Amino acid sequence: MTSLEKVEKVLNHIKSCSPGQDEFYQAVHEVLYSLLPLLKEDSRYFDYNILHRIVMPERTIIFRVTWLDDNGKIQTNLGYRVQFSSTLGPFKGGLRFHPSVNLGIIKFLGFEQIFKNSLTGLGIGGGKGGSNFDPKGKSENEIMKFCQAFMSELYRHIGKHTDIPAGDIGVGSKEIGYLFGEYKKINNEFDGILTGKGVNWGGSKGRKEATGYGSVYFAENWLNANEDSIKDKICAVSGSGNVATYTIEKLYDMGAKPVTCSDSKGTIYHKAGIDLATLKAVKEINKQSLEAYAVLHPDSKYIPTSAYPKDGHAVWHIPCDVAFPSATQNELTLVDAKALVKNGCKLINEGANMPTTPEALEFIQQNDILFSPGKAANAGGVATSQLEMSQNASMEQWSFEEVDIKLRQIMRNIFNIAYDTAKEFDHAGDLITGANIAGFRKVADSMIEQGAV
Ligand code: NDP
Repeated sequence: MTSLEKVEKVLNHIKSCSPGQDEFYQAVHEVLYSLLPLLKEDSRYFDYNILHRIVMPERTIIFRVTWLDDNGKIQTNLGYRVQFSSTLGPFKGGLRFHPSVNLGIIKFLGFEQIFKNSLTGLGIGGGKGGSNFDPKGKSENEIMKFCQAFMSELYRHIGKHTDIPAGDIGVGSKEIGYLFGEYKKINNEFDGILTGKGVNWGGSKGRKEATGYGSVYFAENWLNANEDSIKDKICAVSGSGNVATYTIEKLYDMGAKPVTCSDSKGTIYHKAGIDLATLKAVKEINKQSLEAYAVLHPDSKYIPTSAYPKDGHAVWHIPCDVAFPSATQNELTLVDAKALVKNGCKLINEGANMPTTPEALEFIQQNDILFSPGKAANAGGVATSQLEMSQNASMEQWSFEEVDIKLRQIMRNIFNIAYDTAKEFDHAGDLITGANIAGFRKVADSMIEQGAV
């Protein structure tokens, strides 16, 4: 059987044993195919059945979460924690609260997290969790009640040497605070069992900014390798949450001009440059739709989703030099990729997890445009989470500058390893192959050394 046939067998196997998990197949498909140059060279990965093992989580926990809403009615949601791989360290990955959450989404995120965490060079395994709870339209009290109910089950499965969750979509510092408080109450222990904590009680300075800042540092490395720089670039950013906001902040800091942001209802195009203070006030503080931004800035244009191009997203049809998809999975389609290439975009730098569809990826790879895969470009968040764990373990708190210097270095290392590995396997400039092989090889070799478990 050829390596390709063996890979296809693994893919068929996961489809038959985990039906209806499309996003998970998509993530596994992308990783396994890009590993072929390595798999053809080294038969140990088949001899030890590594592929069959690595696509299967070590443990999957699904639980009921019941909580009382403000009307005194009992509400029920599903909670998940997928502990994918503890080969390199304790399970580590965020929690997502969004109505679209299901097992397939959490598995895709957990699977990607294994290789992302490996690329950081730090001792962290991969996991992910969350719930189909929708924080939108809920009162503060309801969000707190839900977080406490969620932790009343999750606490059994996590621990500072076992599994250390963090935030993701719908889980920011407020939710981490409620989750942490409940864990502490149940266990009677002040332990670093979550990251993204408040800086007054064990959090790391710079964690909030880390994914967005890291994404821009990664883009700068990629542009520098092509004798270019982010300075003076017109940038299109999607999303308006944690990753997008701090991407925009760092872009300004490095002399670029971000002209867009978006949310689930529409897109803002502000040719003069996104006003960061207004964006933070509208989304971070007032939790409004971006329509409110356009009211405050009549020179900007608001494009509601109803006016998006067919099968596409308005944000990618606005001319830019660099695109930063930073909202959610599959938000950059083939139609969008064609528009970016047509408008002369030089680099697509994934801040979100798997924002580019497989059809768009294929098109991008056939065209003259740089591409940074999310598992490398957005790894700054989890890397800084590990820095938070280090500070907790040594009972220290580092300055913002100290954390930022380490983040820059980590992002440079991730870029270098992805870039060099792509070259090693005759795929120079293909960071998808480089990042996947580098991330996988370290985990797979360690699995073999540990008896493949
Ligand atoms: P937030 O919840 O802070 O923000 C998410 C943003 O994406 C919001 O603007 C939201 O719009 C928008 N969005 C969410 N779902 C959709 C959708 N279906 N269609 C259109 N827009 C949508 O999340 P983060 O910024 O933390 O995460 C963004 C991405 O980055 C995710 O893919 C996440 O997995 C990834 N990531 C995050 C890390 C982190 O440290 N936070 C680390 C690494 C990756 P609205 O306001 O309308 O809901």
